[in-house]
Amino acid sequence: MAERFWLETLGCPKNRVDSDKLVGTLALEGYEPADTPEDADLVVVNTCAFIEAARQESIDTILELSDARRDGARLVVTGCMAERYGDELAQSLPEVDLVAPFGVSLLDHVAPAEVAMPGIPVSLTRKSASTGPDSVGQGPLPSFDLLNLPRPAATAPWSYIKVAEGCDRNCGFCAIPSFRGKQRSRSTESILAEADQLGAANGNLKEVVLVAQDLSSFALDRSTGRIEPRIDGPAVGGRRPIVELVAAMSERVAWTRLLYLYPSTLDDALVEAMLATGVPYFDLSLQHVARPLLKRMRRWGEGDRFLERIRTIRQAEPTAAFRSSFIVGYPGETEADHDQLLEWIGEAQLDWVGFFPFSNEVGTYAADLDGQIPEDLVTERLRECTELQDSITAQRRDELIGTRVEVLVDAPGEGRTYREAPEIDGIVVLPDHLPVGSFVDVIVTGADGPDLVAEPANIGHEAAAVR
Ligand code: SF4
Repeated sequence: MAERFWLETLGCPKNRVDSDKLVGTLALEGYEPADTPEDADLVVVNTCAFIEAARQESIDTILELSDARRDGARLVVTGCMAERYGDELAQSLPEVDLVAPFGVSLLDHVAPAEVAMPGIPVSLTRKSASTGPDSVGQGPLPSFDLLNLPRPAATAPWSYIKVAEGCDRNCGFCAIPSFRGKQRSRSTESILAEADQLGAANGNLKEVVLVAQDLSSFALDRSTGRIEPRIDGPAVGGRRPIVELVAAMSERVAWTRLLYLYPSTLDDALVEAMLATGVPYFDLSLQHVARPLLKRMRRWGEGDRFLERIRTIRQAEPTAAFRSSFIVGYPGETEADHDQLLEWIGEAQLDWVGFFPFSNEVGTYAADLDGQIPEDLVTERLRECTELQDSITAQRRDELIGTRVEVLVDAPGEGRTYREAPEIDGIVVLPDHLPVGSFVDVIVTGADGPDLVAEPANIGHEAAAVR
Protein backbone atom coordinates (compact mmCIF):
# COMPACT_ATOMS: atom_id res chain seq x y z
CA MET A 1 0.00 0.00 0.00
CA ALA A 2 1.28 3.44 -0.93
CA GLU A 3 2.57 5.73 1.78
CA ARG A 4 0.24 8.62 2.56
CA PHE A 5 1.11 12.21 3.35
CA TRP A 6 -0.57 15.16 5.03
CA LEU A 7 0.69 18.65 4.19
CA GLU A 8 -0.28 21.68 6.28
CA THR A 9 0.51 25.10 4.76
CA LEU A 10 0.81 28.36 6.68
CA GLY A 11 1.53 31.86 5.46
CA CYS A 12 1.30 33.62 2.15
CA PRO A 13 0.39 32.63 -1.44
CA LYS A 14 4.07 32.03 -2.20
CA ASN A 15 4.08 29.29 0.42
CA ARG A 16 0.96 27.80 -1.15
CA VAL A 17 2.86 27.42 -4.41
CA ASP A 18 5.78 25.75 -2.63
CA SER A 19 3.32 23.32 -1.06
CA ASP A 20 1.80 22.51 -4.44
CA LYS A 21 5.25 21.66 -5.67
CA LEU A 22 5.89 19.42 -2.69
CA VAL A 23 2.60 17.67 -3.42
CA GLY A 24 3.67 17.22 -7.05
CA THR A 25 6.98 15.72 -5.95
CA LEU A 26 5.41 13.44 -3.35
CA ALA A 27 2.92 12.20 -5.96
CA LEU A 28 5.75 11.42 -8.36
CA GLU A 29 7.41 9.41 -5.59
CA GLY A 30 4.26 7.34 -5.17
CA TYR A 31 2.84 9.04 -2.09
CA GLU A 32 -0.92 9.53 -1.86
CA PRO A 33 -2.73 12.24 0.06
CA ALA A 34 -4.20 11.14 3.39
CA ASP A 35 -7.75 12.10 4.38
CA THR A 36 -6.66 13.30 7.81
CA PRO A 37 -3.34 13.91 9.58
CA GLU A 38 -4.07 10.86 11.74
CA ASP A 39 -4.05 8.62 8.64
CA ALA A 40 -0.73 9.90 7.24
CA ASP A 41 2.66 8.17 7.23
CA LEU A 42 4.37 11.49 6.54
CA VAL A 43 3.16 14.77 8.05
CA VAL A 44 4.73 17.94 6.60
CA VAL A 45 4.26 21.47 7.98
CA ASN A 46 5.20 24.28 5.57
CA THR A 47 5.80 27.11 8.03
CA CYS A 48 5.73 30.91 7.92
CA ALA A 49 8.21 33.18 9.72
CA PHE A 50 6.82 36.53 8.56
CA ILE A 51 6.15 38.04 11.99
CA GLU A 52 6.00 36.82 15.59
CA ALA A 53 2.30 35.89 15.36
CA ALA A 54 2.95 33.79 12.25
CA ARG A 55 5.86 32.02 13.94
CA GLN A 56 3.72 31.20 16.97
CA GLU A 57 0.98 29.83 14.71
CA SER A 58 3.57 27.65 12.97
CA ILE A 59 4.85 26.24 16.28
CA ASP A 60 1.30 25.60 17.53
CA THR A 61 0.49 23.77 14.30
CA ILE A 62 3.63 21.61 14.53
CA LEU A 63 2.76 20.63 18.10
CA GLU A 64 -0.89 19.93 17.25
CA LEU A 65 0.04 17.72 14.32
CA SER A 66 2.67 15.96 16.39
CA ASP A 67 -0.05 15.03 18.90
CA ALA A 68 -2.46 14.02 16.14
CA ARG A 69 -0.16 11.78 14.06
CA ARG A 70 -0.29 8.05 14.48
CA ASP A 71 2.55 6.00 15.99
CA GLY A 72 5.44 5.73 13.54
CA ALA A 73 4.37 8.61 11.29
CA ARG A 74 7.20 11.02 10.49
CA LEU A 75 6.89 14.75 11.10
CA VAL A 76 8.79 17.14 8.83
CA VAL A 77 9.02 20.91 9.21
CA THR A 78 9.89 22.97 6.13
CA GLY A 79 9.32 26.54 4.84
CA CYS A 80 10.51 29.88 6.17
CA MET A 81 10.92 28.88 9.82
CA ALA A 82 13.02 25.88 8.85
CA GLU A 83 15.18 28.16 6.73
CA ARG A 84 15.55 30.88 9.30
CA TYR A 85 15.60 28.98 12.60
CA GLY A 86 16.51 25.45 11.46
CA ASP A 87 18.99 24.50 14.21
CA GLU A 88 16.93 26.18 16.93
CA LEU A 89 13.79 24.35 15.83
CA ALA A 90 15.55 21.02 15.64
CA GLN A 91 16.88 21.47 19.17
CA SER A 92 13.72 22.79 20.78
CA LEU A 93 11.22 20.45 19.09
CA PRO A 94 12.33 16.85 19.68
CA GLU A 95 8.93 15.76 18.31
CA VAL A 96 10.10 16.71 14.82
CA ASP A 97 11.89 14.07 12.75
CA LEU A 98 13.36 16.44 10.17
CA VAL A 99 13.76 20.19 9.78
CA ALA A 100 14.24 20.76 6.05
CA PRO A 101 14.97 24.25 4.69
CA PHE A 102 14.22 25.19 1.10
CA GLY A 103 16.28 23.31 -1.37
CA VAL A 104 16.52 20.15 0.66
CA SER A 105 14.63 17.16 -0.62
CA LEU A 106 12.46 15.77 2.13
CA LEU A 107 12.39 12.41 0.45
CA ASP A 108 16.16 12.11 0.29
CA HIS A 109 16.35 12.52 4.03
CA VAL A 110 13.22 11.09 5.60
CA ALA A 111 13.68 7.42 6.28
CA PRO A 112 10.78 5.07 5.61
CA ALA A 113 8.39 4.75 8.55
CA GLU A 114 9.81 1.38 9.64
CA VAL A 115 13.29 2.77 10.26
CA ALA A 116 12.50 6.35 11.27
CA MET A 117 13.90 7.37 14.63
CA PRO A 118 11.48 9.77 16.27
CA GLY A 119 13.07 11.86 18.98
CA ILE A 120 16.26 12.46 17.01
CA PRO A 121 15.48 15.50 14.90
CA VAL A 122 17.80 16.41 12.09
CA SER A 123 18.45 19.90 10.82
CA LEU A 124 19.78 20.17 7.30
CA THR A 125 21.36 23.12 5.63
CA ARG A 126 21.49 23.93 1.95
CA LYS A 127 25.24 24.48 1.95
CA SER A 128 25.98 21.20 0.21
CA ALA A 129 23.33 21.67 -2.46
CA SER A 130 24.36 21.47 -6.08
CA THR A 131 23.48 23.67 -9.01
CA GLY A 132 19.92 23.33 -10.29
CA PRO A 133 18.84 23.29 -13.94
CA ASP A 134 17.38 26.79 -14.08
CA SER A 135 19.89 28.68 -11.99
CA VAL A 136 21.03 32.15 -12.89
CA GLY A 137 23.97 34.16 -11.77
CA GLN A 138 23.60 33.78 -7.97
CA GLY A 139 25.95 30.90 -7.36
CA PRO A 140 24.75 27.40 -6.66
CA LEU A 141 21.06 26.75 -6.33
CA PRO A 142 19.62 23.97 -4.22
CA SER A 143 19.33 20.61 -5.96
CA PHE A 144 15.70 20.60 -4.87
CA ASP A 145 14.70 24.04 -6.11
CA LEU A 146 10.97 24.38 -5.52
CA LEU A 147 10.65 27.02 -8.23
CA ASN A 148 10.97 24.53 -11.05
CA LEU A 149 9.31 21.44 -9.66
CA PRO A 150 6.13 20.04 -11.21
CA ARG A 151 2.71 20.78 -9.69
CA PRO A 152 -0.58 18.93 -9.83
CA ALA A 153 -3.28 20.44 -12.05
CA ALA A 154 -5.19 23.25 -10.34
CA THR A 155 -8.30 22.23 -8.41
CA ALA A 156 -9.86 25.70 -8.77
CA PRO A 157 -10.28 27.78 -11.94
CA TRP A 158 -7.45 30.01 -10.69
CA SER A 159 -3.91 29.39 -9.47
CA TYR A 160 -0.90 31.22 -8.09
CA ILE A 161 2.32 30.93 -10.06
CA LYS A 162 5.57 31.91 -8.38
CA VAL A 163 7.90 33.49 -10.92
CA ALA A 164 10.94 34.28 -8.77
CA GLU A 165 12.39 33.61 -5.36
CA GLY A 166 14.32 36.00 -3.11
CA CYS A 167 14.71 39.76 -3.26
CA ASP A 168 17.45 42.26 -4.14
CA ARG A 169 15.99 45.09 -2.07
CA ASN A 170 16.97 46.03 1.41
CA CYS A 171 13.85 47.24 3.22
CA GLY A 172 14.65 48.08 6.84
CA PHE A 173 11.96 45.91 8.41
CA CYS A 174 12.28 42.83 6.23
CA ALA A 175 14.24 39.67 6.97
CA ILE A 176 13.25 37.89 3.75
CA PRO A 177 16.42 38.63 1.73
CA SER A 178 18.51 37.28 4.62
CA PHE A 179 17.05 33.79 4.32
CA ARG A 180 15.46 33.64 0.86
CA GLY A 181 18.55 35.16 -0.71
CA LYS A 182 18.99 37.33 -3.77
CA GLN A 183 16.31 37.27 -6.44
CA ARG A 184 16.52 34.40 -8.88
CA SER A 185 13.89 34.34 -11.59
CA ARG A 186 12.53 31.50 -13.61
CA SER A 187 12.56 31.54 -17.37
CA THR A 188 9.41 32.88 -19.00
CA GLU A 189 9.08 29.57 -20.86
CA SER A 190 9.00 27.53 -17.65
CA ILE A 191 6.34 29.82 -16.18
CA LEU A 192 4.14 29.56 -19.27
CA ALA A 193 4.64 25.79 -19.31
CA GLU A 194 3.52 25.66 -15.69
CA ALA A 195 0.36 27.60 -16.57
CA ASP A 196 -0.35 25.08 -19.33
CA GLN A 197 0.20 22.19 -16.99
CA LEU A 198 -2.09 23.75 -14.36
CA GLY A 199 -4.95 23.86 -16.87
CA ALA A 200 -4.38 26.76 -19.28
CA ALA A 201 -3.68 24.33 -22.12
CA ASN A 202 -7.06 22.61 -21.86
CA GLY A 203 -8.99 25.75 -20.92
CA ASN A 204 -9.71 24.72 -17.31
CA LEU A 205 -7.52 27.40 -15.79
CA LYS A 206 -9.14 30.83 -16.12
CA GLU A 207 -6.98 33.01 -13.92
CA VAL A 208 -3.28 33.11 -13.07
CA VAL A 209 -2.09 35.12 -10.07
CA LEU A 210 1.58 35.92 -10.50
CA VAL A 211 3.54 36.17 -7.24
CA ALA A 212 7.12 36.82 -6.14
CA GLN A 213 8.78 38.77 -3.36
CA ASP A 214 9.35 41.68 -5.76
CA LEU A 215 7.18 40.75 -8.74
CA SER A 216 7.75 43.75 -10.96
CA SER A 217 11.52 43.15 -10.84
CA PHE A 218 10.95 39.73 -12.38
CA ALA A 219 13.90 38.50 -14.45
CA LEU A 220 15.98 41.64 -14.05
CA ASP A 221 18.50 39.21 -12.51
CA ARG A 222 18.51 37.36 -15.84
CA SER A 223 18.88 40.46 -17.99
CA THR A 224 22.21 41.09 -19.62
CA GLY A 225 21.65 44.82 -20.05
CA ARG A 226 20.57 47.36 -17.45
CA ILE A 227 16.80 47.85 -17.46
CA GLU A 228 15.31 50.34 -15.06
CA PRO A 229 11.66 51.21 -14.70
CA ARG A 230 10.67 54.89 -14.48
CA ILE A 231 7.14 55.64 -13.38
CA ASP A 232 7.18 58.90 -15.34
CA GLY A 233 8.25 57.43 -18.67
CA PRO A 234 9.38 54.32 -20.54
CA ALA A 235 11.86 52.02 -18.83
CA VAL A 236 15.50 52.75 -19.48
CA GLY A 237 17.06 49.90 -21.43
CA GLY A 238 13.97 48.49 -23.16
CA ARG A 239 10.80 46.55 -22.40
CA ARG A 240 10.97 44.83 -19.05
CA PRO A 241 10.55 41.05 -18.72
CA ILE A 242 7.52 41.46 -16.45
CA VAL A 243 5.73 43.37 -19.22
CA GLU A 244 6.52 40.57 -21.68
CA LEU A 245 5.39 37.94 -19.20
CA VAL A 246 2.05 39.65 -18.50
CA ALA A 247 1.37 39.96 -22.22
CA ALA A 248 2.28 36.31 -22.87
CA MET A 249 0.27 35.00 -19.92
CA SER A 250 -2.82 36.95 -20.91
CA GLU A 251 -2.82 35.10 -24.23
CA ARG A 252 -3.17 31.84 -22.29
CA VAL A 253 -5.72 32.65 -19.61
CA ALA A 254 -8.65 35.05 -19.39
CA TRP A 255 -7.41 36.82 -16.27
CA THR A 256 -3.81 37.60 -15.32
CA ARG A 257 -3.41 39.21 -11.91
CA LEU A 258 -0.25 40.58 -10.29
CA LEU A 259 0.39 40.78 -6.56
CA TYR A 260 2.96 42.86 -4.63
CA LEU A 261 4.17 45.64 -6.91
CA TYR A 262 6.99 47.80 -5.59
CA PRO A 263 5.78 51.33 -6.37
CA SER A 264 8.80 52.62 -8.30
CA THR A 265 8.54 49.71 -10.73
CA LEU A 266 4.96 50.33 -11.80
CA ASP A 267 5.87 52.26 -14.94
CA ASP A 268 3.58 53.22 -17.83
CA ALA A 269 4.44 50.11 -19.84
CA LEU A 270 3.48 47.80 -16.98
CA VAL A 271 0.27 49.72 -16.27
CA GLU A 272 -0.62 49.50 -19.95
CA ALA A 273 0.10 45.76 -20.06
CA MET A 274 -1.98 45.18 -16.93
CA LEU A 275 -4.92 47.18 -18.26
CA ALA A 276 -4.76 45.21 -21.50
CA THR A 277 -5.32 41.96 -19.57
CA GLY A 278 -8.82 43.05 -18.55
CA VAL A 279 -7.88 42.81 -14.87
CA PRO A 280 -7.37 46.42 -13.77
CA TYR A 281 -6.30 45.41 -10.27
CA PHE A 282 -3.26 47.09 -8.75
CA ASP A 283 -1.70 45.71 -5.58
CA LEU A 284 0.80 48.37 -4.57
CA SER A 285 3.20 47.55 -1.77
CA LEU A 286 3.44 51.05 -0.25
CA GLN A 287 4.13 50.45 3.51
CA HIS A 288 3.80 54.15 4.43
CA VAL A 289 3.38 57.58 2.88
CA ALA A 290 5.53 59.90 5.06
CA ARG A 291 8.82 60.48 3.23
CA PRO A 292 11.07 60.61 6.35
CA LEU A 293 9.63 57.33 7.54
CA LEU A 294 9.93 55.68 4.14
CA LYS A 295 13.54 56.78 4.14
CA ARG A 296 14.03 55.07 7.50
CA MET A 297 12.38 52.03 5.93
CA ARG A 298 14.93 52.29 3.09
CA ARG A 299 12.13 52.47 0.58
CA TRP A 300 11.32 54.60 -2.43
CA GLY A 301 8.59 57.18 -2.78
CA GLU A 302 6.21 59.36 -0.77
CA GLY A 303 2.46 59.90 -0.50
CA ASP A 304 1.99 62.54 -3.22
CA ARG A 305 3.79 60.45 -5.83
CA PHE A 306 1.69 57.44 -4.93
CA LEU A 307 -1.50 59.49 -5.25
CA GLU A 308 -0.38 60.84 -8.60
CA ARG A 309 0.23 57.32 -9.91
CA ILE A 310 -3.19 56.15 -8.70
CA ARG A 311 -4.80 59.20 -10.29
CA THR A 312 -3.22 58.54 -13.70
CA ILE A 313 -4.28 54.89 -13.58
CA ARG A 314 -7.83 55.93 -12.72
CA GLN A 315 -7.78 58.38 -15.61
CA ALA A 316 -6.90 55.51 -17.96
CA GLU A 317 -9.32 53.10 -16.30
CA PRO A 318 -11.90 54.68 -13.94
CA THR A 319 -13.01 51.29 -12.60
CA ALA A 320 -9.51 50.18 -11.60
CA ALA A 321 -9.31 48.46 -8.21
CA PHE A 322 -6.47 49.10 -5.78
CA ARG A 323 -5.00 47.24 -2.84
CA SER A 324 -2.11 48.19 -0.61
CA SER A 325 -0.51 47.32 2.72
CA PHE A 326 0.97 49.56 5.40
CA ILE A 327 3.15 49.07 8.43
CA VAL A 328 1.94 50.86 11.53
CA GLY A 329 4.32 51.78 14.35
CA TYR A 330 7.64 51.57 12.48
CA PRO A 331 10.41 53.00 14.71
CA GLY A 332 10.31 56.79 14.57
CA GLU A 333 6.72 57.04 13.31
CA THR A 334 5.54 60.37 14.71
CA GLU A 335 2.00 61.57 15.32
CA ALA A 336 2.42 63.75 12.23
CA ASP A 337 3.44 60.71 10.15
CA HIS A 338 0.44 58.81 11.41
CA ASP A 339 -1.91 61.71 10.68
CA GLN A 340 -0.42 61.95 7.19
CA LEU A 341 -1.18 58.26 6.65
CA LEU A 342 -4.78 58.70 7.82
CA GLU A 343 -5.23 61.70 5.54
CA TRP A 344 -3.73 59.80 2.62
CA ILE A 345 -6.02 56.81 3.18
CA GLY A 346 -9.02 59.13 3.15
CA GLU A 347 -7.86 60.74 -0.07
CA ALA A 348 -6.77 57.61 -1.95
CA GLN A 349 -10.05 55.73 -1.44
CA LEU A 350 -8.44 52.35 -2.11
CA ASP A 351 -10.64 49.29 -2.35
CA TRP A 352 -8.58 47.10 -0.03
CA VAL A 353 -5.86 47.81 2.51
CA GLY A 354 -4.01 45.61 4.99
CA PHE A 355 -2.42 47.18 8.07
CA PHE A 356 0.31 45.34 9.94
CA PRO A 357 1.89 46.28 13.28
CA PHE A 358 5.64 46.72 13.00
CA SER A 359 7.32 43.45 13.96
CA ASN A 360 10.84 43.73 15.28
CA GLU A 361 12.76 41.10 13.34
CA VAL A 362 16.15 40.09 14.68
CA GLY A 363 18.98 40.99 12.34
CA THR A 364 17.10 43.61 10.34
CA TYR A 365 18.16 47.24 10.05
CA ALA A 366 15.01 48.38 11.90
CA ALA A 367 15.58 46.10 14.88
CA ASP A 368 18.11 48.49 16.42
CA LEU A 369 16.59 51.78 15.34
CA ASP A 370 15.75 54.29 18.03
CA GLY A 371 12.21 55.56 18.41
CA GLN A 372 10.52 52.17 18.94
CA ILE A 373 6.79 52.79 19.39
CA PRO A 374 5.02 51.49 22.53
CA GLU A 375 2.65 48.60 21.88
CA ASP A 376 -0.48 50.37 23.14
CA LEU A 377 0.18 53.29 20.80
CA VAL A 378 0.66 50.93 17.86
CA THR A 379 -2.65 49.25 18.74
CA GLU A 380 -4.40 52.62 18.88
CA ARG A 381 -2.97 53.71 15.51
CA LEU A 382 -3.89 50.39 13.96
CA ARG A 383 -7.45 50.79 15.19
CA GLU A 384 -7.73 54.27 13.68
CA CYS A 385 -6.38 53.13 10.31
CA THR A 386 -8.54 50.01 10.20
CA GLU A 387 -11.75 51.82 11.14
CA LEU A 388 -11.20 54.45 8.48
CA GLN A 389 -10.38 51.94 5.75
CA ASP A 390 -13.23 49.60 6.72
CA SER A 391 -15.69 52.43 6.13
CA ILE A 392 -14.07 53.24 2.76
CA THR A 393 -14.12 49.58 1.68
CA ALA A 394 -17.75 49.22 2.75
CA GLN A 395 -18.70 52.35 0.82
CA ARG A 396 -16.90 51.20 -2.32
CA ARG A 397 -18.68 47.87 -2.10
CA ASP A 398 -22.06 49.57 -1.56
CA GLU A 399 -21.47 51.63 -4.70
CA LEU A 400 -21.52 48.41 -6.72
CA ILE A 401 -25.07 47.51 -5.68
CA GLY A 402 -27.32 47.57 -8.73
CA THR A 403 -24.45 47.28 -11.21
CA ARG A 404 -23.85 44.48 -13.67
CA VAL A 405 -20.49 42.75 -13.29
CA GLU A 406 -18.75 39.72 -14.67
CA VAL A 407 -17.78 37.05 -12.16
CA LEU A 408 -15.59 33.98 -12.33
CA VAL A 409 -17.33 31.18 -10.43
CA ASP A 410 -14.68 29.74 -8.07
CA ALA A 411 -16.83 27.22 -6.20
CA PRO A 412 -20.54 26.43 -5.88
CA GLY A 413 -22.18 29.63 -4.63
CA GLU A 414 -18.97 31.70 -4.73
CA GLY A 415 -17.27 33.88 -7.28
CA ARG A 416 -15.17 37.00 -7.82
CA THR A 417 -15.00 39.95 -10.13
CA TYR A 418 -11.57 41.30 -11.18
CA ARG A 419 -11.82 43.54 -8.09
CA GLU A 420 -11.23 40.65 -5.71
CA ALA A 421 -7.99 38.70 -5.54
CA PRO A 422 -8.60 35.10 -4.48
CA GLU A 423 -8.21 34.34 -0.77
CA ILE A 424 -7.23 37.95 -0.04
CA ASP A 425 -10.16 40.25 -0.75
CA GLY A 426 -13.92 39.78 -0.47
CA ILE A 427 -16.02 37.36 -2.52
CA VAL A 428 -19.28 37.49 -4.47
CA VAL A 429 -22.00 35.23 -3.06
CA LEU A 430 -23.87 33.57 -5.96
CA PRO A 431 -26.63 31.02 -6.51
CA ASP A 432 -25.27 27.48 -6.10
CA HIS A 433 -26.20 26.28 -9.58
CA LEU A 434 -23.75 28.44 -11.55
CA PRO A 435 -21.06 26.19 -13.10
CA VAL A 436 -17.65 26.36 -11.46
CA GLY A 437 -15.05 27.79 -13.83
CA SER A 438 -17.54 29.78 -15.89
CA PHE A 439 -17.71 33.54 -16.39
CA VAL A 440 -21.19 34.87 -15.70
CA ASP A 441 -22.72 38.34 -15.91
CA VAL A 442 -24.52 39.09 -12.66
CA ILE A 443 -26.32 41.96 -10.99
CA VAL A 444 -25.06 42.96 -7.56
CA THR A 445 -28.05 42.92 -5.21
CA GLY A 446 -26.35 43.60 -1.89
CA ALA A 447 -23.13 44.03 0.05
CA ASP A 448 -22.12 42.58 3.39
CA GLY A 449 -18.87 44.15 4.60
CA PRO A 450 -16.24 43.12 2.03
CA ASP A 451 -18.51 40.62 0.27
CA LEU A 452 -21.12 41.19 -2.44
CA VAL A 453 -24.30 39.26 -3.13
CA ALA A 454 -25.35 38.86 -6.77
CA GLU A 455 -27.69 36.98 -9.06
CA PRO A 456 -27.47 36.17 -12.77
CA ALA A 457 -28.31 39.09 -15.02
CA ASN A 458 -31.63 38.41 -16.78
CA ILE A 459 -33.59 40.46 -19.23
CA GLY A 460 -35.65 42.86 -17.19
CA HIS A 461 -32.90 43.62 -14.67
CA GLU A 462 -32.10 47.29 -14.47
CA ALA A 463 -28.33 47.58 -14.16
CA ALA A 464 -26.49 50.84 -13.61
CA ALA A 465 -23.33 49.82 -15.45
CA VAL A 466 -21.61 46.90 -17.06
CA ARG A 467 -18.15 46.09 -15.78
S1 SF4 B 1 10.76 44.39 -1.44
FE1 SF4 B 1 9.52 43.06 -0.08
S2 SF4 B 1 10.68 41.13 0.14
FE2 SF4 B 1 12.08 42.70 -0.73
S3 SF4 B 1 13.15 43.54 1.08
FE3 SF4 B 1 11.37 44.88 0.64
S4 SF4 B 1 9.69 44.06 1.92
FE4 SF4 B 1 11.31 42.47 1.83
